[in-house]
Amino acid sequence: MADHYEVLGVSRDATPDEIKKAYRRLARELHPDVNPGAEASERFKQVTHAYDVLSDPKQREQYDLGGQGGFGGAGQGFGGFGDIFETFFGAGQASRGPRSRRERGQDALIRVEVGLDEVIFGTHRDIEVDTAVVCETCHGSCCQPGTSPVTCDICGGTGSIQRSVRSLLGNVMTSSPCGTCRGYGTIIATPCVTCQGQGRVRARRTVPVDVPAGVDTGVRLQMPGSGEAGPAGGPNGDLYLEIKVRNHEVFSRNGDDLLCTLEVAMTDAILGTTTSIRALDGDVEVELKPGLQSGEILTVKDRGVTRLRGSGRGDLKVGVQVVTPTKLSAKERDLIHQFASSKKAPAPELSHFQQGLFARLRDRFLG
Ligand code: ZN
Repeated sequence: MADHYEVLGVSRDATPDEIKKAYRRLARELHPDVNPGAEASERFKQVTHAYDVLSDPKQREQYDLGGQGGFGGAGQGFGGFGDIFETFFGAGQASRGPRSRRERGQDALIRVEVGLDEVIFGTHRDIEVDTAVVCETCHGSCCQPGTSPVTCDICGGTGSIQRSVRSLLGNVMTSSPCGTCRGYGTIIATPCVTCQGQGRVRARRTVPVDVPAGVDTGVRLQMPGSGEAGPAGGPNGDLYLEIKVRNHEVFSRNGDDLLCTLEVAMTDAILGTTTSIRALDGDVEVELKPGLQSGEILTVKDRGVTRLRGSGRGDLKVGVQVVTPTKLSAKERDLIHQFASSKKAPAPELSHFQQGLFARLRDRFLG
């Protein structure tokens, strides 16, 4: 078992952020969608497992203390007495009878990219996953059809070998896994040809996924039992989907609200009008009141994103930018002059510097 820190290429005192960054970088490189090779797939699994452990503070602490349970950590504290511990408590699982070939399959992580428009109401995807599935020839038994595992002659089916050993404390019985059957207690004499006795084969599988409304980048959806099939007919692991929401060229998002900017002609801003906006979920009528100002925000209730938790939808927020005409005909220029002379305009007024209208709009959206 490789060291989780080495697998991720980080130091033992790496911060959670460094661990996350290392994982993201490796996952991008090794993800089965990008890198379909068997070796990459194996490394991807290792990297994902290492990240699962090290990203969880509790698991990381346990791992740092000595990892996979057992006496690894304590053994260090007791110097050379580790083997005596083993003598007392039995080596690993040997005293608990033969171990099972059946194991739970690995979890898998797949990245799913969706558009902002798909997030409003949720969407459906059929996702292709490179995974392990139960072997159809042996149905997970690992044996050629018509055959079955035979009891190991060497350990008599117990999976372990008992020996009497002389120690500091007198004669004690020690047990270790049987080398012939590797602790399974049985031997597969005629392994299934299709899966080479693994009980599962690699395959590309299509997983139908309902992406719920309201998900955002970074959300992980767990699909229990949709991960890899385990060895020897073991249960499936889980499939995790990490969502990425693509940026949209017009609309952006703040929580469950959708944001956009509407450019309004100066004359419309002065006189007021009604206009139609092409929102992500269809057209929206917006009333522009006479005297509309740049930086004003028009709120269209319940036209944002459907809430992931709870019910209802966020709002659509439309920031107004009044556009000053730049190319005027002589006649238009004349009309503006007439307008200007008809009433005395107030002098330009000084106020705090603002980083452009967009920054101002954003501040007001988020403030
Ligand atoms: Zn098979």
